Amino acid sequence: AIPTAVMVGTGKGAKSGILIKGGESLELVHKVNHIVFDKTGTLTVGKPQVIKNIPFMDNSMKDVLFFAGSLEQGSEHPLGQAIVEKAKEKQIDLTTVKDFKNNPGFGIEGIIEKSRIIVGNLKFAEKEGVDHSSADIMIGDLQSQGNTVVLVMKDGILIGILGLADKLKPYAKETIKMLHKMKIHTYLLTGDNKKTAEAIAKSIGIQEYFAEVLPSQKLVKIEEIQSETNAVVAMVGDGINDAPALTKADVGIAIGSGTDIAIESADIVLIKGELQNLIAAMTLSKKTYIKMR
Ligand code: ADP
Ligand code: MG
Repeated sequence: AIPTAVMVGTGKGAKSGILIKGGESLELVHKVNHIVFDKTGTLTVGKPQVIKNIPFMDNSMKDVLFFAGSLEQGSEHPLGQAIVEKAKEKQIDLTTVKDFKNNPGFGIEGIIEKSRIIVGNLKFAEKEGVDHSSADIMIGDLQSQGNTVVLVMKDGILIGILGLADKLKPYAKETIKMLHKMKIHTYLLTGDNKKTAEAIAKSIGIQEYFAEVLPSQKLVKIEEIQSETNAVVAMVGDGINDAPALTKADVGIAIGSGTDIAIESADIVLIKGELQNLIAAMTLSKKTYIKMR
């Protein structure tokens, strides 16, 4: 039988938008001493916007948005949606793409007007042997301000870069500060590059970061932290990419209007996407189990 205190606890949670799947998760959450956060959609709002468009060679800003926007029509990535939105805002007529391919952790590719277009990160450019030296200073500047840089390549040549900015969630800093007061170690885990991850971690006050983590490797990082002595690890995430890590963590916490798979994989769901509800969930857990003792 479920103890009354647990039923009261989960009931109270539900009223404030904290869905707790079973008493075990409620009990574990106040024992958590390491919390790993996904970046996009978890610590940030998850709606990046194109704030910079820098063309190279003899291309225009329009060219950059035409090729990147056309290709990104086939992508569900928030970066892709932001690029399509910007192209539409600039009233650029996007075209169809042949042989579209998504490369998780790198970007996308396809054929447009007989040219091979690649849109993605630096790792992708390097994998494809595309020279990006002319853009390196601008890329570095954008990244160290916490922006994500997307490179646009056409037939093996860099034709432009796009800088995308995402806003931090309200109370992100305060939540992290509270967690540190509760002696909880904090980590940022992202597929994004090192410089951007470092800038975001710094601006929020997160203690450690893991960058350029491929979707398939997110759960390996959780295992690494779990192997530390007495570690009880929670993972907070919203995306399909996060689902295996949410399952692997001692407590998986899905946040907000996250993807169905993330919600299914989690033990606790913060329905409204509010980070501060994480503290509320921990306090609720503590109160419930003190009552039971
Ligand atoms: P995250 O959800 O942390 O961004 P992903 O694995 O989805 O992790 O992506 C990792 C990186 O790969 C992104 O930060 C971006 O640099 C690049 N990327 C992935 N998909 C796209 C896309 N559709 N357009 C541009 N870049 C992309
Ligand atoms: Mg995410």
